Amino acid sequence: MDPVAFARALIDIDSTTGREGEAGRWLSRELRRLGFSVIEQPVDGDRRNVIATSGTETTGHTVVLSTHFDCVPPFFPSRIEGDRLYGRGSCDAKGILAAQVAAVDRLRREGERRVGLLFVVGEERGSDGAKTANEAVRGAGARFLINGEPTDNRLGLATRGILRLKLRASGRAAHSSFPELGESAIDKLIDALVELRSITMPADPMLGQTHYTVGLIDGGVAPNVVSPSAEAEVMFRTTSSASDVRAAVAPLEQRVAIEHVLEVPPVRLKTVPGFDAAVFPYTTDIPFLPAWGEPLLFGPGSIHVAHTADEWVSIAELTAASQHYVTLAKALLAQV
Ligand SMILES: [Zn+2]
Repeated sequence: MDPVAFARALIDIDSTTGREGEAGRWLSRELRRLGFSVIEQPVDGDRRNVIATSGTETTGHTVVLSTHFDCVPPFFPSRIEGDRLYGRGSCDAKGILAAQVAAVDRLRREGERRVGLLFVVGEERGSDGAKTANEAVRGAGARFLINGEPTDNRLGLATRGILRLKLRASGRAAHSSFPELGESAIDKLIDALVELRSITMPADPMLGQTHYTVGLIDGGVAPNVVSPSAEAEVMFRTTSSASDVRAAVAPLEQRVAIEHVLEVPPVRLKTVPGFDAAVFPYTTDIPFLPAWGEPLLFGPGSIHVAHTADEWVSIAELTAASQHYVTLAKALLAQV
């Protein structure tokens, strides 16, 4: 099984989040052709997760390799230049997926039937695939989950979480020639955002300082009207419980209302000896897959080229990754 050819064929099917139907059907067909038992798990319309095993329902998922096959837009097809495989999803995460299939295919040929595959939709927008996969688990589930995202073939030690908060300021509209008759929501929001800069954020010895981005801002009705409303959405990359951040920003509630939009916790990951390890500032599907076992994170490619206009992965790194997945799976099976 050639992981590069497999990755190219999958990259060439547009599976931008929301349009994963065709890629899911292709994956199921190819995995069955390789000799796996495949379950297609409906998520939404024709979007489905694909679960593959070469063992029985109970033992076939002792170690599960997983990643996602949806991609961010815009789609562009594969091409090879030197050691680089280009194309949307080459790095995040169809190259990873192909390396995982090659690894489990090799283990199966060696007679190892306790390793399964879980490929989900929707990771890039809300993780609906992972949530469905988690709800569907009956009984004990898997022992270990090796989730694939671009880590430059290093094991993850921990990943940051997310907290999205909306800051909402309200004021009173007035003609801008008599500003004293109104109350500017925009001014209140600006004051809150300036105050936010001076707040000391929670920190963690491993993950570092919580940081944030004011990603969206909106307010006002016209140039000559004192603004009656304004809001900003702030995304924190958290290193501890989201409630620590909520406590830190509580003083802002003197100026604005704070609305909780979304929260994903930071995660501590299992490691095995013999691999480089690092912390990663992004979040993954792992927080949504607790029923799939103790999590590890590992994959070829760099997060710095994921989501870019010329996304690529090193073919040497992708090929090496499939060997690393075999080694990782064997190390975990030895602990069972
Ligand atoms: Zn990804």
